[in-house]
Amino acid sequence: MAQRFEEAEERVFDNIYICRKCNAKNKTQDPESTSCRKCGYPDLRKKNEQFAG
Ligand SMILES: [Zn+2]
Repeated sequence: MAQRFEEAEERVFDNIYICRKCNAKNKTQDPESTSCRKCGYPDLRKKNEQFAG
C-alpha cells in the first residue's frame, strides 16, 4: 500500500535527525558520526526534540 508507506515515513522519528544549522532532515541510525547531508554540519538533533521547548 503506497499510502501506508508515507505514514510510516512520518511516524518513524527514531532515525530522523535535524541539522542544527540548516534544519535539513537527515536519516541516520548513527547521528554521532553523521554530518548533515546538505551542509555538512556535524551537530544534529533528534526530530522529536523540536517540540520539546
Ligand atoms: Zn545542515
